[in-house]
Amino acid sequence: MSEPTDCQSCGACCHATHPGHVPLTGEDHARLLPHEQETLVEFHGVRCFMKVADQRCVNLREEAGRFACAIYERRPQVCRDLELGDEACAFERERWGRELPS
Ligand code: SF4
Ligand code: SF4
Repeated sequence: MSEPTDCQSCGACCHATHPGHVPLTGEDHARLLPHEQETLVEFHGVRCFMKVADQRCVNLREEAGRFACAIYERRPQVCRDLELGDEACAFERERWGRELPS
């Protein structure tokens, strides 16, 4: 698999097979706007997660094959920590079968 150079042509790590894919910390939740806190997240017990629909985080947008996060400035820490080209990135791209331009 080629090395990734462009997250907007990928979006693999924003896809999800289960509702616990994108956990939020208390700080992550506080960073969201009030209407986002009401509509974008769900609680499983005391734990908070971004909602998932159609195997994607609800914040993932796709237009003409390009991906973007609708709340990029307020995205959770787990999304900030995953860096293009790191081990988790490679795992997600492998799982979703995405070949990226080199
Ligand atoms: S899986 Fe890697 S290349 Fe793809 S969007 Fe996530 S960080 Fe970027
Ligand atoms: S919050 Fe944004 S960056 Fe994080 S998984 Fe969802 S779409 Fe991707």
